[in-house]
Amino acid sequence: MRCPTCHKPVDMTAKNCFRPFCSERCRMVDLGTWAAEEYRVPGGPPTDPVNEHPDDRKKHRILH
Ligand SMILES: [Zn+2]
Repeated sequence: MRCPTCHKPVDMTAKNCFRPFCSERCRMVDLGTWAAEEYRVPGGPPTDPVNEHPDDRKKHRILH
């Protein structure tokens, strides 16, 4: 059995409470209930402000 969202093999035992998904994140994706910023795709858009380097932010603050 593979995860309908990411197609990785899924642990179908009782241990996995997100069946048939591999994780809570994949379940949320499938339900279309992306809780805004909490469930992000690894390697998302490079413009993501959260991935901004702290030093860049400091520089920005100094310049303005
Ligand atoms: Zn998955």
